[in-house]
Amino acid sequence: MSTQPNWGEATQETVNHLSRLIQAETVNPPGNELPAILIIKDILEKEGLRSPEDFVIVESAPQRVNLIARLRGDGSWRPLLLSGHVDVVPVEREKWSRDPFGGEVVNGEVWGRGALDMKGFVAMYLQTFLQAHRTKLPLKRDLILAAIADEEAGFDHGSKFLVTQHRDLIEAEYGLTEGGAFTIPLGQWRIYAIQVAEKGVTWMKLIAQGKPGHASLPHEENAVFYLAQAIEKIRRAAHLPVHITPTFQAMVSKAAAQVKFPTSLLLRGLALPWVVNQVLKLLKGYPKTLLTALTTNTCTPTVLQAGQKTNVIPAEASVHLDCRRLPGQTPEDVMKEVLALTGEGFRLEPLDTSPGAEFPTDSPLYRLLEEETHKLDPQGIVIPMMMPGATDACVYREAGITMYGFTPGRLPEGFPVLSLAHGHDERLPISFIESGLPVLWEVIRKFCAAP
Ligand SMILES: [Zn+2]
Repeated sequence: MSTQPNWGEATQETVNHLSRLIQAETVNPPGNELPAILIIKDILEKEGLRSPEDFVIVESAPQRVNLIARLRGDGSWRPLLLSGHVDVVPVEREKWSRDPFGGEVVNGEVWGRGALDMKGFVAMYLQTFLQAHRTKLPLKRDLILAAIADEEAGFDHGSKFLVTQHRDLIEAEYGLTEGGAFTIPLGQWRIYAIQVAEKGVTWMKLIAQGKPGHASLPHEENAVFYLAQAIEKIRRAAHLPVHITPTFQAMVSKAAAQVKFPTSLLLRGLALPWVVNQVLKLLKGYPKTLLTALTTNTCTPTVLQAGQKTNVIPAEASVHLDCRRLPGQTPEDVMKEVLALTGEGFRLEPLDTSPGAEFPTDSPLYRLLEEETHKLDPQGIVIPMMMPGATDACVYREAGITMYGFTPGRLPEGFPVLSLAHGHDERLPISFIESGLPVLWEVIRKFCAAP
């Protein structure tokens, strides 16, 4: 039997599945992933797969469910997990040109909330899984497909629930999830960034204390003034100190190896903390905000609190700081950096913290992902990437799984991918699916099956 699927048919099938998944409204909050999970259950059952031997559905709360399917290998190697979330972020319906839950196919694009983040990729993972089943791929390791809940609102009902309550279901050596290997246009280049790291979260409250009093008798020791000065110092500093992580080092050196002089030289300069600021000035038109986020802990003031009444000078004023820390940095490191900026006299209260993650760029799976992505677009630049935010990967890390963000495909020129995920008029070109499926298939075939 030929193991090469018919890509035209596979693409059409993926598009049909994606349309159905978009029609299942799984906006989080509240989540309600059940209808999407039932669609996947139905697809698996039509394929002859049965519960509980081939897949199970586990519920963390009413309507909040996760489906985990497994194709068994001969046990030579530990499993590979393909994990995708089926919840989506809310929509502002009136700003959309089409029904966000219609799943319509228009001019070669599948429209709807989740097309990019990440039901489109779930449909592609599912297709690859079905293909492995149909072709009886001689697996040396189990292939696990996890369609999960709650990525968009804190992981509790999805990856966290699985890692803490059902670890046996997702136990794997490696895993793939969202966040990488699709086309990102940058100047004259097309970048394919495979996600290998995520920043951690350090949320805290910065508190200024002052002298209370009657507002009709103003004085300078007002807590609001102190807090305003601290916030202004954060603004003027522009960023916290630079730290170069192994991921950033790898990203810069791999990118430099794929471009011509003198850009290659400039790129290498990005990994040298003492010249990085000069290099950023020379690299006009580059995503400076992103580069800064990848080389520093960040600190963003968000929620302000002070006072109860217009005519009372409050004794205390505070601001929430959404800080994101680089892998290798501790919450205490970030607190020290913030206090070094604001000066003494402020109190910091931790609000929430979660670890980031950093996975190796020299593992056999990473090397394979890199190799196959190059085939997708021989002129494209393939690099490892750190995500400034968090995905399920940082949760799976706690179960010892090495995760990469890998949802490969080539996007047409000018397709505004970065503004459409979580934005209005989210949609996925069918040509993306058609280009990405063979790449995903080759990865699964080479990594999981006997040659
Ligand atoms: Zn997502």
